This record gives sequence, structure tokens and C-alpha cells, in this order.
Amino acid sequence: MTDPEVLVIGAGPAGLTAATYLGRFRRDTLVVDGGEPRASWIPVSHNMPGFPAGISGADILKRMREQAREYGAVVTAGRVAELAKEGQGFVARIDGRSVRARAVLLATGVVDRHPDLKGVERAVQRSLVRICPICDGYEATDKAVAVIGHSDKGAREAAFMRTYSDRVALIHIGPPEALTRQAALQRLGVEVILAPLDAVVLEKERVTALTWGGQTRAFDLVYSALGASPNAELARGLGARLSDDGRLEVDLHQATSVPGLYAAGDVVRGLNQIAVATAEAAVAATDIHNRLRRMDGQTLPD
Ligand SMILES: Cc1cc2nc3c(=O)[nH]c(=O)nc-3n(C[C@H](O)[C@H](O)[C@H](O)COP(=O)(O)OP(=O)(O)OC[C@H]3O[C@@H](n4cnc5c(N)ncnc54)[C@H](O)[C@@H]3O)c2cc1C
Repeated sequence: MTDPEVLVIGAGPAGLTAATYLGRFRRDTLVVDGGEPRASWIPVSHNMPGFPAGISGADILKRMREQAREYGAVVTAGRVAELAKEGQGFVARIDGRSVRARAVLLATGVVDRHPDLKGVERAVQRSLVRICPICDGYEATDKAVAVIGHSDKGAREAAFMRTYSDRVALIHIGPPEALTRQAALQRLGVEVILAPLDAVVLEKERVTALTWGGQTRAFDLVYSALGASPNAELARGLGARLSDDGRLEVDLHQATSVPGLYAAGDVVRGLNQIAVATAEAAVAATDIHNRLRRMDGQTLPD
């Protein structure tokens, strides 16, 4: 592993898009990835621009990796355990080795919180339990939908699902006092069930029912709306500014509060969407290139 000019941490849609742009700006770019980008969980995406028939997450990532490599980016497996400032650049510990870079892009994504029920993670991967109404709410049109939620975040997702169906139930698994919007939800026509869930009943290719307190109820589709934790520890270690929900704060060019450290994709505030991740990555890569040009005296004087 030789030292690149730019280190990109994370090979999901954000990291790979940045690598393509940086490669085309003729920057030596290393992308390291700890495995299982969130995008790899997408069975079929129907809102990916340019793919009207849909495309799987695995195919999106394969195409993006090919494109990044076409322009010289090195994409490799590895986990960045530490990131520190060194002069104007950075030094990263990757699987026991030190790698230096002049700029770093964090494209580290988030980790979803799932209900603590056997088999749920597998059910999300198979799209039996869904986690992203903006991605696939359209496919829930006129279906009986359950939203598993905790606090008002679950309430907001259940309310959003009324865009698609008039049969929406919020199953609130937190303490009842954490749900402050119960009356407003009921006015919107959302059924509210306050109960800890016991099981998700899976039958072949679909979730057939949810059970709680001895009751079993069938739904066509189940959403889990328990939120996600941003992978922002490396930035936190550098003292970068984070927002209240733990995501990275960035400026209009995707620069964090640490000079030379950029961020794009789900780890940054905003919609967790591929189109957003790729747009942010394009902005970040362009600013990284311009920053390095300025540092090297390759720009016109103001
Ligand atoms: C089931 C499901 C369905 C979805 N459907 C859609 C859809 O239809 N349309 C849509 O637009 N979006 C969809 N999304 C959302 C989409 O997947 C994300 O918005 C997108 O993947 C974000 O890209 P990213 O590059 O920011 O992060 P990710 O794709 O999550 O990639 C982040 C990568 O960073 C790596 N990483 C983290 N920390 C480190 C470290 N310290 N060292 C090295 N590597 C590290 C991780 O291992 C991971 O591989 C869906 C998500 C899920 C889970």
C-alpha cells in the first residue's frame, strides 16, 4: 500500500463516486473499505436515476468500483482504526500499517438500528422488513403497513407512509411517554399500538405477521424506523464538529471543521440516498482537488 494523495474511507456510493472524480482529476487515490456498505443490502432499487427497470445494490457497487478503477483509483479492503493530523495532512492506521495522505474523505456511512428480534437483520437484507420509506415507500401503495418505531422518529415515518396507504399502524416499542405525537398521528389516520414486539413471523418470501402480548396481526409490509448511528468516530477523534444526532457538520463544499478532512454520504446530515451521497461526493472531490491545487500554487492568483 503506497501513500496516496487522497485517502477515501468507505467504498459505498459516496466513496466510489469521489474516487472516480479524483481519478479523473489525476489524483492518486486510495479507497479502503471495512466491508458491507449499506448499499450492498439493497435488493432492487427503483429510484436510482437512469435505471428505470431497477438495479440491485450489488450491481450499483460493481459498476461504481469498475468506474473508479478505470481512472486509477485503488480500491481495497481494510479498516481504518485511527486517523491523526500530521503537518498539513493525515496519517491513518489501516490494519496495522500507517498510510499518509494530503487529504481525507470520510464516506463511512451509518449502522442501522434493528429491532432486537431473531432473524430481523436477514429479513432487512431480503427486503421483508424495510428500513427506508423514501427508497421504497412507493411499493407499499395501498398495502397494510406496520411501522416499528421508538419515540417520535417512528411517528414521523408512520405519518410519511400515509402518502401511500390508508392502512398504516405504528407499533411503538419504546416507553409510552417517548411517543408525544400519538393524538396527532391518530388524527392523520395512523393506528397506534403501544406494545413491545415479541416476534416477526416470516413465511417464505414475506413477513406475514407481528406478534405482541399474545396477539398476532398480519401486515403486507413492515418497516423498521429505529434510526441509525453514524460512523463518525474517526472524525470525532480529530475534534471535527458533529451535529446533535452524531452526523458530521460540513460546509457547502463538504469540508468538515478540520482542514483537509471532508465527508460525504450517509455520515453527513441529509437524506440517506444514493443520489445524495454521489452528489455530495462529487462536490467534495472537486473541492479536495482545488484545495491541493491551491496548496501547490497551481491556481491563478485572486
Ligand atoms: C435495505 C436498504 C435499501 C435501500 N434502498 C435504497 C434505494 O432504493 N435508493 C437509494 O437511493 N438508497 C437506498 N438505500 C440507502 C443507501 O444504501 C445509502 O444511502 C447509501 O449506501 C449511502 O452510501 P455511503 O457511501 O454514504 O455509505 P455506505 O454505502 O454505507 O458505505 C460506507 C462504507 O464505509 C465503510 N467504513 C465505515 N467505517 C470504516 C472504517 N473505519 N474503515 C474503513 N471502512 C469503513 C463501511 O464498511 C461501508 O462499506 C437503502 C439502504 C438499505 C439499508
